[in-house]
Amino acid sequence: MRAGRIIAFITAAIFIILAFLFILGGLDDQEGDLRWVIVGIIGLVIGFVLVFVGTKLSPPVKTGDQVVNLNVDLPGEVGMDTIKCQSCGAPLSSEDIKMVAGAPVVECPNCGTTYQLTEEPKW
Ligand SMILES: [Zn+2]
Repeated sequence: MRAGRIIAFITAAIFIILAFLFILGGLDDQEGDLRWVIVGIIGLVIGFVLVFVGTKLSPPVKTGDQVVNLNVDLPGEVGMDTIKCQSCGAPLSSEDIKMVAGAPVVECPNCGTTYQLTEEPKW
């Protein structure tokens, strides 16, 4: 549905641009033709409707789902249960893993300390 959304936005932009040209052309002429202005207004309405439809086509992906999916693929997840926070000693689980700038990071739920995950964690 993402392609349909892009097409809707592009079409909407074309409609809005043309609509402005129609309105400007209709108003600039000394013997201005109101029909061009009306056509322009209709074009504007169509354009904004397309933007609305395009927004409705593909609702934003829930970021929470992405984080869950990434956690499943992490290597060494099995040993996560035995890891403890170096600051406060609270146990860290795989549920505390977050993706920051593309790198897995563990955040202590107790004190908020963050640790970067590496292939061979020192802790
Ligand atoms: Zn802690």
